[in-house]
Amino acid sequence: MQGVTEVCSECEFDPHQISDDQLGSQLLQLATGYQAVIADASASACPALSVRPSPQTWSILEYAGHVEFVVDFVAHMCEVAASDELAPLNPPDPDDHVNESNFNKVDSSEMSARIRSASGRAKAALDGLDSDALDWMMSFNGNPAPLRLLTVAMVHDSHHHLCDITKLAAS
Ligand SMILES: [Zn+2]
Repeated sequence: MQGVTEVCSECEFDPHQISDDQLGSQLLQLATGYQAVIADASASACPALSVRPSPQTWSILEYAGHVEFVVDFVAHMCEVAASDELAPLNPPDPDDHVNESNFNKVDSSEMSARIRSASGRAKAALDGLDSDALDWMMSFNGNPAPLRLLTVAMVHDSHHHLCDITKLAAS
């Protein structure tokens, strides 16, 4: 998982700059960034808002839909985390999930609201964790990993794709 231990070479996300108690507020802050880019892309009728710029590159709404899922998954992880018992987490393949979800048909303001509300759920779930819960081990697609590392990876994912859509909206 990139962006978990090192600074990301593409989006410059630095996992060491985020303390445990900032993870939730970071997601809320990123949601504000998504809302701004989506609103701008919608106002300027940016084609990449709902059309893939190339077959292998998601549209802005597809990136946003993926990120909404990821952020919501943070809340899900917090709910199923229960001590060190390797609670199973089996998210779908991101490309399969996006391909099946028709995010390009979702109204852009609804997508913004969805990301906002998922971030609120994730922050509340993170804030409600036991003090040692970020050290608890989960089983992510069969691979043992602490909740902290998985959460940081998802905050990075959200940060990384905000950079992606910012570039798409500007092109
Ligand atoms: Zn990155």
